[in-house]
Amino acid sequence: MVRYVYDFAEGGRDLAGLLGGKGANLAEMTRLGLPVPPGFTVTTEACRAFFSAGSEPDGLAEEISGHLTALEKAAGRKLGQPDDPLLLSVRSGARFSMPGMMETILDIGLGDDSVLGLAKVSGNERFAWDSYRRLVQMFGSTVMGVDSALFESALSDLKRDRGATDDLGLNAADLTDLVGTYKALIRRETGEDFPQSPDEQLRRAVLAVFESWNGERARIYRRREHIADDLGTAVNVQTMVFGNLGSDSGSGVAFTRDPATGRPGLYGDYLPNAQGEDVVAGIRNTVSLTDLEELDPVSYAQLRGHMETLEAHYRDLCDIEFTIERGRLWMLQTRVGKRTAEAAFAIASELVDEGLISPAEALGRVTGGGLARLMFPRFDTSAVGESLAHGLPASPGAAVGAAVFDSAEAVRRAAAGEQVVLVRQETTPDDLPGMIAAQAVLTSRGGKTSHAAVVARGMGTVCVCGAEEITVDATGRRFTVGETVVEEGTVISVDGSEGTVFLGAAPLVDSAVMRYFERGERSAGLVESVADAMEQADRTARLEVRANADTPEDAARARRFGARGIGLCRTEHMFLGERRKLVEAMILARDETERKDALGALLPLQRQDFIGILEAMDGLPVTIRLIDPPLHEFLPDRTDLAVRIAAAEARGEHPDPHDTELLGAVNRMHEENPMLGLRGVRLGLVVPGLVAMQVRAIAEAVVARTRASGSPEAEIMVPLVGAVEELRIERTEVERVLAEVSEETGVAVHCPVGTMIELPRAALTAGRIAEEAEFFSFGTNDLTQTTWGFSRDDVEAAFFSAYLDKGIFATSPFETLDRDGVGRLVRIAVDEGRAARPDLKIGVCGEHGGDPESVHFFHEAGLDYVSCSPFRVPVARLEAGRAAL
Ligand code: ADP
Ligand code: MG
Ligand code: MG
Repeated sequence: MVRYVYDFAEGGRDLAGLLGGKGANLAEMTRLGLPVPPGFTVTTEACRAFFSAGSEPDGLAEEISGHLTALEKAAGRKLGQPDDPLLLSVRSGARFSMPGMMETILDIGLGDDSVLGLAKVSGNERFAWDSYRRLVQMFGSTVMGVDSALFESALSDLKRDRGATDDLGLNAADLTDLVGTYKALIRRETGEDFPQSPDEQLRRAVLAVFESWNGERARIYRRREHIADDLGTAVNVQTMVFGNLGSDSGSGVAFTRDPATGRPGLYGDYLPNAQGEDVVAGIRNTVSLTDLEELDPVSYAQLRGHMETLEAHYRDLCDIEFTIERGRLWMLQTRVGKRTAEAAFAIASELVDEGLISPAEALGRVTGGGLARLMFPRFDTSAVGESLAHGLPASPGAAVGAAVFDSAEAVRRAAAGEQVVLVRQETTPDDLPGMIAAQAVLTSRGGKTSHAAVVARGMGTVCVCGAEEITVDATGRRFTVGETVVEEGTVISVDGSEGTVFLGAAPLVDSAVMRYFERGERSAGLVESVADAMEQADRTARLEVRANADTPEDAARARRFGARGIGLCRTEHMFLGERRKLVEAMILARDETERKDALGALLPLQRQDFIGILEAMDGLPVTIRLIDPPLHEFLPDRTDLAVRIAAAEARGEHPDPHDTELLGAVNRMHEENPMLGLRGVRLGLVVPGLVAMQVRAIAEAVVARTRASGSPEAEIMVPLVGAVEELRIERTEVERVLAEVSEETGVAVHCPVGTMIELPRAALTAGRIAEEAEFFSFGTNDLTQTTWGFSRDDVEAAFFSAYLDKGIFATSPFETLDRDGVGRLVRIAVDEGRAARPDLKIGVCGEHGGDPESVHFFHEAGLDYVSCSPFRVPVARLEAGRAAL
C-alpha cells in the first residue's frame, strides 16, 4: 500500500523528491531540533496520483485525517475548535524550488464561530479578524477561483474610506466589515458560500495546491528553468504561528550570506506585526535585521544561532523564512538559497577557505552558465554621467532597454525584437512573463528578498529593487524622479551590480572576469574565486577543450582562454571578400589551364592563412577542415543576377557578358536543397584540383613553420563523409599531395587525416570509416539536422516555439544535444570507431561543444575533446571539470 503522508519528524533532506524541497527541509530542521511548528507533508506521489486519476487518490483523505488527529492531540485543541481553534497553513513545495509560483493558504480552520474564540483566547480581536479576512481572501481566490483583484480593490476601498495608509490602519471592526464584504463577493462571483467546515477547507485547500502545479505561472517558470512537468508538488500542512499578533510579533526572511555578492553576514528583511506573505509582497516597507536586533534582541540572537547551525549543517548559503509570535521565534522554511553567479563563485571559494567543503565540492557548486554571465560587459562607470536613481543591487549585470510599465507591454516589445526594462512599483507572480522578456527589472519598492529580487536572481536577469526616489505611474506609463519624467519607451540603463539607474544607453566595458581571461589580470575577490574554480576544473577534467577558430586573432584569443588547440578551422571563410573573384574564376574556368591559374592564385593566400594560425597555435593541434559549403555560395545571388540582366535588356543594352556567364553557372549549379547537395567531400571528389590546392597550402604552411623552428601540428579533416569509399579516395589524394610537398621541400610533412561524423550513415558505419580515419570529429549541427530532418536555417523561426510549448522538447536540439537520438548515434560511432581503431582520437566541433549539458554528455560518451567558439572556451573548461566530478 503506498503511503501518501509523512510527519515532519519522519522525513529529511534526502527525501526531497518525495516530500518536495520545502517539506524535506522542514523535516530536516525538525530533526535538527530547531523550533518548527509541527505538521505533515502530503507527497508528490499523491499529487501525481491526483493528476493521473483526475480526482483525490484513494486513501489520501484517511491518511490526512489520521495525521491531523495526531497533530490535534499534541496541540490539545482541534482544527477550528470554536473556543480555541487550531489553525493550519497549507503550503505548496515541489522538488525544485519555484518561489512564489504555486499557492499557499494560511489560517485554514477559521469560521464565523471560531474567529470569536480566537479573539477571546488571544485577547486580540483585531488579530483574529485580520487572520479571518486573510483566509477568506486566499481561499476565495486560490480555491474558489475569484479574481484576486476584486479582493484587493475591496481592501483598498476600505482603507480609503477609513483614511488608512496601510492595513495596520484598519481596526477590528473594519476587518469584520471586510470579512462580510469578502464573503458577499464570493457568493456573488461563485454562487457558493465560503465553507465554514474546517475539514472541507482543509481538503479543498490541499487539492487546490495540487492544482496550482499546473497554474500558468508555474508552467511558464518550469519551462524557463527546464523543470519537468510531471514531478508534481508536495503539500505541507502545518500548525499556524502568528506574526500578526502585535508589535512583539512579525515575519521575516533572511540569508546566511549576501545572495548577491556572497559576502558573509546575515542579510534579510523583517516586518513587524505581519504574516509572512506580507514581507515578499512589498505591501509595507520592511526593516533590516539590524533593526530586529534592537526590537527583539533575544529572538535575534536565537535566529543568528539557528542560521549558523543551518549553514554548518548544509555547508552552504541557506535562506530562511521565520516568524516571531509574541517574542517566540519559529522557523518556517529553509533551503540552500538561490544566488547570483557572482555569489556562487565567491561562496564556493570562501567555504573552501573555511574548510567546510573540498575544492571538488566547490567546483560542483558553480556553473558554466554562471561563468558566461560573469563574462558579460559592465557599464563603464568612468564614462556614465550622473545617475538617475539608486536602489538595491539585487541581481548583478548591466542592461540597457526601453522602459515599459507592464508585463504585457514588455512581452509585446521583446517579441518585436526590442530590449526592454520592466519598471514596476513591485512585481507579483503575474509579472513573470514580462520579467522573462525584459533585460532588467526595476522596482521602486521592496528589499533584496522581494519577489522581483528573488525571481530575477534565479533567472540571471539584472535587477535593481527598492529605488525609492522613483515614483512609478503605471497607468500613465511613466515614472518620475524629482523633476525628471521618464515616459514609456525611453531608453534607460540599469546596473544591477551597483544598484544604479541611468538615463540613456550607458557605455559598456569588459567585466573583470573577462579581463582576467583576456589579459590574465588578477584582482582580489570575484576574479580570485573564478581562478580557483578554473584551476580545479582543469585539474579534474578528462575532456580537453579546443576552440573553433579561422583566424590567427581568434586562435590567439582561444589560447589565452585556455584552449588546447583548434578543433575546427573552417577554410571557406578564406574564400570570401576579395578572394571571391578567384573562386569565380575557378568555377567559370573553360579549360584545365584557366582552372589551374585560378587555383594557383588562391594557393599562396591560403598558405599564408594557415601559417598565421599554426603560428598562433604553435605546439598544439590545429584541425583544418577542407572546404564544405556548395560552391555557388561564393557566386552572386541568382535573382540579383537575373534582375541585372533583365534591366540591361529592358534599357535596350547588351547585358554584361560576365553576368550572363555567371548566371549560366549559377543556374547549372542551382540546387533545391543545397544542404543535402554538392558539398563537403562530394565537392572534393568532383571538382578537380580543389582539394589538392588546399592540402598543398596546408603542407607548405607546415614546411614554412617547421623551417621557422615552430612546431606545427596540422590535422586534415574531411567533411560530410557518408561512406568509407568517399574517404578512401579523398585520403589517397591528400596523401599524394603531402608526399609531393615533402619530396619537393625535403621536409617530411605528416598530417593525420580524419573525418567529420555528421551524417547518420557515417555514425552507423563508423567501424568501416575508422579504417581510413585517424580521428573523428562530430559535427553535431549537421548531425542534428540530418538525424531529425530539421533544416537548421528554417525550423527555429518557423515552429520551434510551438514545439517548446507543446513540450516536444525542453530546449532546442541545436542548443543542447539530443541524447536519445543524436546522442545514440554518437555512442554507436564512438564504440564502433574505437573497436576498429583503438587509438582513434574523437572530438566534437558543433555548437554543442560549448553547451554545459552537452559537454557532460560528451564526457560520458568518452570523447577526447570538445571544441567551441573562443568565448565559450572557459565555460567548456569549467563544465568539462564538473562533468568529471
Ligand atoms: P512560498 O513557497 O511561496 O514561499 P510558503 O509556503 O513558504 O510559500 O508560504 C508563504 C508564507 O506564508 C511564508 O513565508 C510564511 O511566512 C507564511 N506561512 C506559511 N506557513 C506558515 C505557518 N505555519 N505559520 C505562519 N506563517 C506561515
Ligand atoms: Mg516560502
Ligand atoms: Mg557540417
